[in-house]
Amino acid sequence: RAKQDGAGRVVLFDPQMHAEALARLTLNGDLQRALALGEFRLQYQPLFRLDSGQPVGVEALVRWQNPDRGYVSPADFVPMAEETGLITDLGRWVLNTAGRQAAAWRRTQPDLGINVNVSGRQLTDPQFASDVERMLSDTRLPPDAVTLELTESVLMSDPKAAIACLRDLQDLGVDVSIDDFGTGYSSLSYLQRLPVDELKIDRAFISRQSPTTADLAVVRTIVELARTLRLRTVIEGIETEAQRNAMQVLGCDLGQGYHLCRPVHPESLLTGLGLPEPTWKAA
Ligand code: C2E
Ligand code: MG
Ligand code: MG
Ligand code: MG
Repeated sequence: RAKQDGAGRVVLFDPQMHAEALARLTLNGDLQRALALGEFRLQYQPLFRLDSGQPVGVEALVRWQNPDRGYVSPADFVPMAEETGLITDLGRWVLNTAGRQAAAWRRTQPDLGINVNVSGRQLTDPQFASDVERMLSDTRLPPDAVTLELTESVLMSDPKAAIACLRDLQDLGVDVSIDDFGTGYSSLSYLQRLPVDELKIDRAFISRQSPTTADLAVVRTIVELARTLRLRTVIEGIETEAQRNAMQVLGCDLGQGYHLCRPVHPESLLTGLGLPEPTWKAA
């Protein structure tokens, strides 16, 4: 885009815009190369039942370790991958890798579930449901061991299209969770019609040292809504024992957060959970 300089002349070359565009192009190229070179890794963060403390599953969280850039946060590269469309390939890699890992863990932890984050671009990819189906048949995971996490904003930006995509997933038997719930603008009439199984309440509502009365009232309302709609509830971002207790009292089913367990490398998961080491090598 052309810009005007102070004297009113049109400047076609703006060094700062050029530098930004170049940086984005480079990042995009690096991301594509990273996928080809195998620089992405998954960490896994467990989800626990709040009443019994039982671990019920793990969420796969993608990591990028690059020789030049060092550690890059998914908050920085996932949006870029969504913009360029690379998320379709990256997301398929995450799905298959997490599926294989979960199948390996289930040889000693038969009930362990796996949660995979899915971006809007993947959901609307016509291939997505068949990718999930292939993963299920390759790994022989039972469909109900798999939960796909989609953010509230993705589902609500075009609820009618989302409902159609979610039906295919529901037919496969996998669970769907609405991630970061409470931060978007859910239409209650659509929420009722969305074929989902779980509301994952955003950590914003408990992010303070001790949640305010207003925060707790919001969580209580979401939990009651979920109960009415027969949906499971998860609260993310539990960082203190006080938060854990408050969420249990409110009747939240599952919890996740640094206080319970940080995201860990696959090799450390079973020991981190106090479970016996397997005799086989992790995928
Ligand atoms: P998310 O799915 O809502 O994941 C939760 C994020 O909160 C993770 O950050 C996790 O490490 C962090 N977290 C967990 N417990 C706590 C806690 O107690 N306190 C705080 N402050 N944070 C906690 P992470 O791994 O950096 O991921 C950020 C986001 O990137 C994810 O948010 C998700 O939206 C996206 N993401 C990560 N992996 C994938 C992926 O494979 N595919 C897609 N499409 N998105 C992904
Ligand atoms: Mg998530
Ligand atoms: Mg979340
Ligand atoms: Mg979140």
